[in-house]
Amino acid sequence: MRTHPISAHTSPYGIKSMTDIDMDTDTGTDTDVERVIQILKKRYRAGSSLLMAPATRGDPFLTLISCLLSLRTRDEVTSKAAERLFSLAKTPETMLKLRIDDIESAIYPVGFYHRKAKQIVEICSTLVERYNSKVPDELAELLKLRGVGRKTANIVLTIGYNKPGIAVDTHVHRISNRMGIVATKNPNETEFALRRVVPERNWLILNELFVLHGRSVCTPLSPRCSICPVYQYCKRIGVTRSR
Ligand code: SF4
Repeated sequence: MRTHPISAHTSPYGIKSMTDIDMDTDTGTDTDVERVIQILKKRYRAGSSLLMAPATRGDPFLTLISCLLSLRTRDEVTSKAAERLFSLAKTPETMLKLRIDDIESAIYPVGFYHRKAKQIVEICSTLVERYNSKVPDELAELLKLRGVGRKTANIVLTIGYNKPGIAVDTHVHRISNRMGIVATKNPNETEFALRRVVPERNWLILNELFVLHGRSVCTPLSPRCSICPVYQYCKRIGVTRSR
């Protein structure tokens, strides 16, 4: 744990590289990560400011489709598009009864709506044909679905199935590295490193908390370190400008 002023030499997690992470165990790192999670939970009152609409939670199919719609699209646009689409169809079978232009009209103006409508149809066909209309609950199987990457697959596991997983997007990757929790080059590396250092009980909530924190405080260009509730636990790696 750090105290003001910033000590450039102290890592609150004692982690400097992937090698360190590989050699590290959870012992000695749990406490600070745990504390960070607890502070962010309080700050963002997770559960009341959820990123995923409550109706979507616990439904793997709706979670999967919402995730696909959300890629490169603002949240407000995604949630309205999802609402329109789910008012027409909520299962792979009913989705396949829609015409592709009905899907396009429902999800417009999400980014790449034309491509996403096609992707939704393809995924629904695969689910019906190969998975008995059920979204798989294993990471490896989810990754076989067209256009489904690790982030989406982990969100389906965590939000849809309430199973352990760590969804790493740009916010999670940036904040984990800035804080010194991990030292990684890309979101995939970050996911594996976080799995090593974050206790599994915190996996479910981590994405949501870091995304909320990344949007409001730990922003990409000039983070608001002066009002950051986890400042004392942060090594601020790579932060050259802050407010
Ligand atoms: S806002 Fe600043 S202190 Fe807070 S997590 Fe981001 S870099 Fe660290």
